[in-house]
Amino acid sequence: MSLTPVLTSYWDEPQSWTMDTYRRHDGYRALSKALRLQPDEVIATVKDSGLRGRGGAGFPTGMKWGFIPQGPGPDGTTKPHYLVVNADESEPGTCKDMPLMLATPHALVEGVIIAAYAIRAAQAFIYVRGEVLPVLRRLQVAVAEAYAAGYLGHDILGSGYDLDLIVHAGAGAYICGEETALLDSLEGRRGQPRLRPPFPAVAGLYACPTVVNNVESIASVPAIVLNGVDWFRTMGSERSPGFTLYSLSGHVTRPGQYEAPLGVTLRELLGHAGGVRAGHTLKFWTPGGSSTPLFTGEHLDVPLDYENVAAAGSMLGTKALQIFDDTTCVVRAVLRWTEFYAHESCGKCTPCREGTYWLVQLLERIESGQGTGADLDTLLDVADNINGKSFCALGDGAASPIFSSLKYFREEYEQHLRGGCPFDPARSTAWAT
Ligand code: NAD
Ligand code: SF4
Repeated sequence: MSLTPVLTSYWDEPQSWTMDTYRRHDGYRALSKALRLQPDEVIATVKDSGLRGRGGAGFPTGMKWGFIPQGPGPDGTTKPHYLVVNADESEPGTCKDMPLMLATPHALVEGVIIAAYAIRAAQAFIYVRGEVLPVLRRLQVAVAEAYAAGYLGHDILGSGYDLDLIVHAGAGAYICGEETALLDSLEGRRGQPRLRPPFPAVAGLYACPTVVNNVESIASVPAIVLNGVDWFRTMGSERSPGFTLYSLSGHVTRPGQYEAPLGVTLRELLGHAGGVRAGHTLKFWTPGGSSTPLFTGEHLDVPLDYENVAAAGSMLGTKALQIFDDTTCVVRAVLRWTEFYAHESCGKCTPCREGTYWLVQLLERIESGQGTGADLDTLLDVADNINGKSFCALGDGAASPIFSSLKYFREEYEQHLRGGCPFDPARSTAWAT
């Protein structure tokens, strides 16, 4: 399958991030078109396109916009609506939104204006990871350029529509990428997930109807509005239409962003990326970041769309394809991910707060060759008590690599029990003694 560069089409151009470059590539023409439509017509376009959320869950974007209640609520008052862009990309292996915002911040800004117009919001926020200062600065410059050009602020392009856009820097907690924790953080509180329902579409920022969308989802909207639903649906499948960014990292010859129709396979993407690094073979990979169950070489031909990846036992997630070759110790890789989840657990619920700590203890023991057969059962038991019993998706994400690595590589775990880590005897107590 060929690559379909849309979002990435001019990333290599010098000064790709400026307003001038963006306009040379049809930038802000979709906005003019959208402002001539009624807001509901814009929502209908995005609904018909079948665009699904690119943040990981794949929820239909137009449907989410359509959930925003219109008119007065039961108490007779009409609450303001908000659009919030989740730019807190932090899932291990996930690295598409940051380069997108660096290379073409105006695609996101234009998408924000169109989306905010569609849901009748007068205020929008981009919540970006605070540590990634170059992205923050680039967004701030792009937003200032958009205000200066009359695309933001009062009476946008003479349409009578007003919108303010604020770029907000988070403080660097993975949990603030969970949409309700993000909203708490944006309101100035410690970011911890809220109970859903109510979903943000009903009670989000300041308890008002709020759409929270991922960066790539919103940045895809201008191309859909400009080129039309039929064009978008020429790519991908009926239920997973369109183009998307696949991020290849790890043991691959040319890591990077590969934009292709949904349904491309890893084998095809590796063809574009020069394959697994020379002299080695594929051992395992993640289809959508570390929270999604691992795949192995037997999954090279699974079409990477929401339905087919799920049918093969994993999730498309953020389409972060981390490639691990035959030199990788799977136990050590899972330990590193688990340390991440334990560190980032917000502590709100017991299964995740305590369970991720215990997973790390068990994996450390197993990896260093000090484990026993009972530890493998305990590992599965603890993961089972986190999975589906935690307050938010972080807990499930932590359990996922444990289950899938044991499913495919149980023998490697047992090898560690017998004689320590076969990939790194120096780190292994059992080998050393
Ligand atoms: P979810 O399926 O619960 O919700 C997805 C979206 O749909 C949310 O915005 C939610 O508000 C909305 N929604 C769902 N049902 C709704 C309803 N009935 N009414 C109104 N709105 C509704 O998924 P989630 O917990 O928000 O996100 C989990 C995903 O996040 C995982 O699949 C993972 O891949 C991804 N993730 C991404 C990153 C990253 O860095 N991008 C990090 C961690 C996890
Ligand atoms: Fe916090 Fe983890 Fe519970 Fe989510 S699952 S609320 S991150 S403790």
